[in-house]
Amino acid sequence: MLEALKLANTYPFDFDPKQSFIQQASDWIADVFYERLPEAGFELRDEQIYMAFQLERAYSEKQTIFAEAGVGTGKTLVYLLYAINYARYTRKPAIIACADESLIEQLVKPEGDIAKLARHLDLTIDARLGKSMDQYICLNKLEDARGGIEDAEAYGSIYASLPDFVHNPATMQAFYPYGNRKDYPELTDEQWKAIGWDVFQDCLVCSRRHRCGQTLSREHYRKAADIIICSHDFYMEHVWTYEARKREGQLPLLPEHSSVVFDEGHLLETAAQKALTYKLKHSVFESIITRLLNGEIRESLAVTIDEAIEQSEHLFRLLESSSRAIAGSERREVVMSDQLLKEVNRFGAVLAAIEEELVFESGLFTLDAYQLTIVEEHLEMLQLALNLFKRPSGLISWIEQEQEGITLVIMPKLVKEILKERVFSKNMPIVFSSATMSVSGSFDYMSASLGIRQALSFSVASPYDYERQMSAAVAAIGGQEKKLKLALARLQQSQGRALILFPSKEELLRFKLDIAAIPDFAAFRFLFEGTAEISHLIDAFQSDEASVLCAVTLWEGLDIPGPSLSHVMMWSLPFPPQDPVFTAKRRDAAAPFETVDMPYMLLRLKQGLGRLIRRSEDSGLITIMGNELADERVLDQVNRILPEGVRPELLSV
Ligand code: SF4
Repeated sequence: MLEALKLANTYPFDFDPKQSFIQQASDWIADVFYERLPEAGFELRDEQIYMAFQLERAYSEKQTIFAEAGVGTGKTLVYLLYAINYARYTRKPAIIACADESLIEQLVKPEGDIAKLARHLDLTIDARLGKSMDQYICLNKLEDARGGIEDAEAYGSIYASLPDFVHNPATMQAFYPYGNRKDYPELTDEQWKAIGWDVFQDCLVCSRRHRCGQTLSREHYRKAADIIICSHDFYMEHVWTYEARKREGQLPLLPEHSSVVFDEGHLLETAAQKALTYKLKHSVFESIITRLLNGEIRESLAVTIDEAIEQSEHLFRLLESSSRAIAGSERREVVMSDQLLKEVNRFGAVLAAIEEELVFESGLFTLDAYQLTIVEEHLEMLQLALNLFKRPSGLISWIEQEQEGITLVIMPKLVKEILKERVFSKNMPIVFSSATMSVSGSFDYMSASLGIRQALSFSVASPYDYERQMSAAVAAIGGQEKKLKLALARLQQSQGRALILFPSKEELLRFKLDIAAIPDFAAFRFLFEGTAEISHLIDAFQSDEASVLCAVTLWEGLDIPGPSLSHVMMWSLPFPPQDPVFTAKRRDAAAPFETVDMPYMLLRLKQGLGRLIRRSEDSGLITIMGNELADERVLDQVNRILPEGVRPELLSV
């Protein structure tokens, strides 16, 4: 291990401290693309050399850069080389943030880009995964699940397979990370939900914290010398919780880092909104506030706490009755009323009274200081969230209903101010990498939505011959029966070997149900997202060439070269859902269809198209279905985003 770290910290070239480091690193990187990789059998790509020169400026001036590069340009190799060298120079790792959890595994797979660099450049690269908290088992939830009715046996054997130090705290052996979602590929997403960490777990005061896989994994990835790979969501969670964690005496989720690469950077705004979201639940408030009752407190405080619990219960009941279902969404819309506003104010006032009481109480030193800090943090967060909730113009809120009660979700509409202050004002190179970021050749839309004042940018087209490699067909159909018929014919044409992309989980589940009743579909092996851990499904799809992978979240980033992926089928046009987030965006837009729905759909569709051709030897089919294609304007826009030279065939059933 020590040896690996030592090697990882060595520059891959002879460094002269009297000269600029970036200049010397750039010369070495140019040599890699001109000489070393071509000698190892890689194509010499002008696009990579051009990109390398662009990144040199971003790294030497510590600037933000939009690096828009089409599929097959080899952009990952370029940014990895800069990120690694700069990490070694500054002695701080680089962060590579991918669009989601399934993509972070792809960078470190044996045939992935990091392994390629290590092999061909004879480098030892210390890259570690910083997975999100929900990717780890929560020992408390596992305990409950073992005692439950459903799948108790499966959870029992997971419990039995945990390392000894989990069961026996006195064991004198080294702790190591465990309990990662990937270690349980056979569990469905539903089963995993019963044991995986969720936002309502209170790790701060958990007695199992030091033996928990999540905590141990954090200790592991924090020590990476070169690269930490995480998701956008996780990076944003780090940004958002940074100050609070420090106040609570905890380490931030990620260590100090030297640069950040946002892969699929066009998706960052959504991740930021998600991380800045408040989730309020009555049971969580009750369990946190009642901690104060464990100490010797004055009666007036005890009475106010009881009052607050009662008011919280009342408010959540009112929220539930004031909400209404949204067609096609599991989220419920909150209907604001004077009564609701009055109850929110009343709750805020009781919380303020507790805060005041706590000022007195802390002077008496009767409460545990640590518990007090946690309660104060929670009250502060609640007051912030309630104040936001009272001003609906700046936020999007909804209710999620679960068995154990409702959750009020409050999400800010704009995140640019916070991003500007906490991310883009840092003196650090930040790379946005994606095939689709500019709108009509300009990056202004991205800069404005993320609060970036100044950035470098460039665009490089894909080197592939799409006219020869891609054959596309579109069908203006919407009925399930017709779509199934067409899907079957197209799957027979490609002999399986297809990725079917669905805009929603509901559409995927309906497809799964329907094909089970049609014998002809039995000729194919289908793999469905949600039935097992995602990277396990991707591996199975890649190794069983004729199989068909059905997914909702793989419109972006999936990289499967070769015949296993010879056909990409879009089951429907990926218009945004009818949920509170998009309803709010539509409400604020003068022409919602043109400025919200169409751009989102086209961007997603373009990303989906990008899954097919991953190298110059690849070729295959594209099938796009959707009743909206009967509208000439939609069809015209869809045709325009197809790569140059690709003329779609119009199919009918
Ligand atoms: S530390 Fe958090 S995730 Fe781990 S067992 Fe405790 S509550 Fe669960």
